[in-house]
Order: sequence, then C-alpha cells, then structure tokens
Amino acid sequence: MKVRVPHYFDQFSCTGSRCPDTCCVGWMIEIDEASYQRFMSMEGEFGERIRKNILEREDGHFFALNENGRCAFLNEKNLCEMVIKMGDAGLCSLCDNYPRVGVEFGDLREMGLSLSCPEVSRLVFSSSKPICFGEWFKEEEIQGTDYTKDVLFTSLMDLRDVLFGILQNRELSIGGRASLYIMMASRLQNILDEDSDEMKMSEKVQKLSEKFSDGGYLKKSLDAIKGCRMELSREFVKGVMKFLDGLEIVNQKWLDLFHMTMEWLEKNQTDVYQEKHEKFREFYGEKEYVYEHLMVYYVYRYFMKMIFDGDIYSRAVLCVMALVVIHEMNVAVWDGQKGSFGLEEQIRAMYLFSKEIEHCEENMERLSEEIWENVMYQPQSLIDNLTNIL
Ligand code: SF4
Repeated sequence: MKVRVPHYFDQFSCTGSRCPDTCCVGWMIEIDEASYQRFMSMEGEFGERIRKNILEREDGHFFALNENGRCAFLNEKNLCEMVIKMGDAGLCSLCDNYPRVGVEFGDLREMGLSLSCPEVSRLVFSSSKPICFGEWFKEEEIQGTDYTKDVLFTSLMDLRDVLFGILQNRELSIGGRASLYIMMASRLQNILDEDSDEMKMSEKVQKLSEKFSDGGYLKKSLDAIKGCRMELSREFVKGVMKFLDGLEIVNQKWLDLFHMTMEWLEKNQTDVYQEKHEKFREFYGEKEYVYEHLMVYYVYRYFMKMIFDGDIYSRAVLCVMALVVIHEMNVAVWDGQKGSFGLEEQIRAMYLFSKEIEHCEENMERLSEEIWENVMYQPQSLIDNLTNIL
C-alpha cells in the first residue's frame, strides 16, 4: 500500500503540558471497541478507575468529562494519567492517533495532521515553504474497495494536482485562487451529477484539468469577474458569521474570538471596513502564504472524499468559508490590537476554527446543508465576494 503524507508530517511532536489548548478538554472522546474490551477486563485499581469513568451511550462508549469539561484522566499538570500509568500503548485508538487523520482509497492511504491541534497549526503556518507531499510503501493488506485503479479516481487525482498548482501560484491573489477553486468545483460537481458512465466522466474531468492548466484560460476567467459592492461583501461575511453563531459550541475560546469579530463587523461601516481590509493586506503582505497553506490543507483533506459520496461543491465552499472567517478574525484582531498581529494570533484562529467545525460531526452536517440550500453560497455570489474581500 502507498502512504502519502504532507512534508511536515514527521516533524509533529505533542507539546503535552505546554499545549495552549489541550485536546483533552471540551471533547467527548469515543472509545473504540477493542480498547473498550481491553479496559473492561483490566485488573487492579486503575482498571477500576477507568471503568468508573466510561459513559455508555446509544452511539458508543466515551470517557467522562468533569464539570470543567476536562477528561477524567487529565491531571492538574495537564498530563494524561493513562500515558503515565500505561504508556502510549494503553490509550484508545482515537487518543493514540490524534492529531493524525487519514483516509483510505484501497491501495492508497492519505495521512495528515489536523489543524485543530495548536502544535500542528504552528508547524504548518510557521513556514512559507509551499506544502508538498511525500510517499512510501507499506506492506499491508488492502481493506475495503480499491479505488486507485479506477479511471475516474486517477483523473480526479490529476485534477487535484492542477488545483494545488493554482492554489500555490503566488502570482495570483488569494481571492483569485479561491475563486478559481470555486469555478472548478462547480463545473466538476456538474460533471459528477450529469453522468453516471465512469469513462465519460473521466474524459470530462481530464478536459477540465487541461482547461485549468492553461494560464490564458485562468487569466480570462479572473478578468471576467466583475465583483460586487463592498457593502454587499460585508453583508455576506455577516451572513456567514450569523450562520456559524447557531452551531454547536465546542470551545469557549472560539466563542470569545467569534463574538469579538462579530462586534468588529457591526461597528465598522462599509468605507471603514474596506479601508481596514486594505491596510491589513498591506501589513500582512508576504505572510498571506498562510491562507494558501490553509486552502491546500482543506483540499488535501477533503477533495478526494467526493469519491465516496459525489459531493465536491460543499467541501470546496467549506474551504473558502474557513478562509473568509479566519481572515475576518485576523483583520478584527489586528485592528483591535492597534496593528499588532503575529504567528500566535494566526495559529489561534486556525486551530479554533478547525476544532469548532471540522471536529464536530453535527456542525459539519449542518454546514453542508446550509451550503446546498442558501443561495449566498452559489458560485457567482461566492466569486464576487471572494475577490472583494481577499
Ligand atoms: S492538542 Fe496537540 S499539542 Fe495539544 S495536547 Fe493535544 S496532541 Fe498535544
């Protein structure tokens, strides 16, 4: 089996008690069946303690949280007592793997690191080096369907490479790159919806790849964007934020940042809003590579999942929504701190967004429904606004 990882994958190391927002607070940790059975038959006092702290629910077994939302095994020094007593091998698979995430396509496993971990966000965003990927082979039996030999899968992988090229083209603005992603995703969605013959779909995807590899075509597509009034873009951002306001809250720190940004949006009328956006762009300059990394992360993590359910468009919108919201939070923090904004603030916005959205199944489902139902997420509306804001 081929295993693919982003270049920073092996550099990750948990910061443990120094972590600014440990993954052992605020989340119900689901215990996999094999670990559950192991815990149930564990002897001694510690085995007893584990069993006392397992919650039985209809949807599975979970570790109990205390009244402050802390995992029952997280001690006062922010260290995991399971690791202290049993080593990493004693953990359930979720705790053992996090923040590693992966998806299998049969003979190919794509692994990554979740941005919801502050240390991963630090790794990803502290370097301007374009994200690239490495591969190795592992002797392992293939589980489930092997998609890797399908023509459609191969052409989609090629298209994703073309998309990475666009997202990492630093001659284009961030808004322009995000707009091209939306254009590509909406056409790809049409291809997937209109046809069921795999060969025909694959041919159309290849043609799409050729188009989006053509610099002249990209330029023409970007030149054709007329944009909209800034007033409407401010309303658009407010609309996105309003929707997020109704989602399940995973982390109190997210709520603080979110409310501060909402107030900032309300306070700054269109002309001031526009001026502050322009000044932030000047200030941030070359550091805008962080938004490129963010988009590449989302594309790597979600683009190929269309192979399981045919949904490309809502995943593309999730990516640009992350971009819009995080950027807006960045401008608000920068303005609130009188022009001071560094890597720490950036990392914070990145991991809080990821925790709030990517790691909450309910929020991901509601977001996908909203994207499909609300006209403001249709391609033209998104493209007009993206080129204004970013
Ligand atoms: S969030 Fe990341 S760095 Fe923090 S405790 Fe969890 S794995 Fe370690």
